[in-house]
Amino acid sequence: MYLVIDKLTCRTANGADINADDPKLLQLKDGRGNIAPCTIILPTIAMETKLHLKDGEDLVEKFIENLDVKIHEAKDMMIERFNWIASQSADSAKFMYENHLMYGYKPEEGIISALKHGTLSIGQLGLAEALMILIGKYHNTDEGMKLAIRIEKLFADRCKEFKNKYKLNFGVYYSPAESLCGTAMKKFKNKYGEIPGVSDKEWFTNSDHIPVDCNISVLDKIEIESKLSGYSSAGCITYIELDGLVSKNIDALEEIVNFAMEHDLPYFAVNVPVDTCINCGYESEIPDKCPKCGSTNIKRLRRVTGYLTGDYKSAFNNAKQSETEHRVRHTNTMSELE
Ligand SMILES: [Zn+2]
Repeated sequence: MYLVIDKLTCRTANGADINADDPKLLQLKDGRGNIAPCTIILPTIAMETKLHLKDGEDLVEKFIENLDVKIHEAKDMMIERFNWIASQSADSAKFMYENHLMYGYKPEEGIISALKHGTLSIGQLGLAEALMILIGKYHNTDEGMKLAIRIEKLFADRCKEFKNKYKLNFGVYYSPAESLCGTAMKKFKNKYGEIPGVSDKEWFTNSDHIPVDCNISVLDKIEIESKLSGYSSAGCITYIELDGLVSKNIDALEEIVNFAMEHDLPYFAVNVPVDTCINCGYESEIPDKCPKCGSTNIKRLRRVTGYLTGDYKSAFNNAKQSETEHRVRHTNTMSELE
């Protein structure tokens, strides 16, 4: 596994640098970053394919064909954006360029000398819902996983081709889609209505994840998502949801982390709710009001996407809040570890 995760605990990763001056710098992370992402909304492509399917056409084959067109369009958009960003003068980020914070910067060549080491990422949203539209099941089934792998391999193969052809660091990104998960769903519902297992909620599922309300075990969640994470070269994350009680069972936690590492997950996160009573400072998982002082003034810290933010009730939109509240705890299935 060659992914390098940046230092901000964000899922974004710089893959190997095709423009590295020295093989030792292939995996350099300081001074490089993600220049621009473009996220493909998979359920919309699946739905459009389904609605416009002609006699004799196969839904899955036509979807793959349409997705391929969109991946190429995303590549064209990325090149246009890259050229636009690279056409700016170093004065656009004077401090960074003058203080050698951008790797490879040569003033006589312009900022493209630094930006060519960054990543152009082609992202994705709602793999699970797209599979539901196409074959009526998610990737926690063999058939679903087979198609999921085919889709992810297409992303990975194309990004590899683009990288070699254009000498730019194209990579597959499992997008957080923090706002897009809700805005894309709103538009989808307006156009296609409410479809069970697809648009009967307020958000599209994060990237390649299993839907948050699927009742699967910790180990299954890790096992399933680890089959896909290797196709992502520009960043991904797999998280599991536990309750605060895990702090009393560190051996089980260690076993989970070891299991995730054995499955080669580039970025694994254990989500544990941390609530703080603003009045008295009591800290634990707090249901409605503080069990110590009765206050309802509670700050609720959650990992909603990649970052740990402040109170998720104010830091995130309604779609992400609703997604967070629908997350199934995997704790009840920890017994398989004991
Ligand atoms: Zn309190």
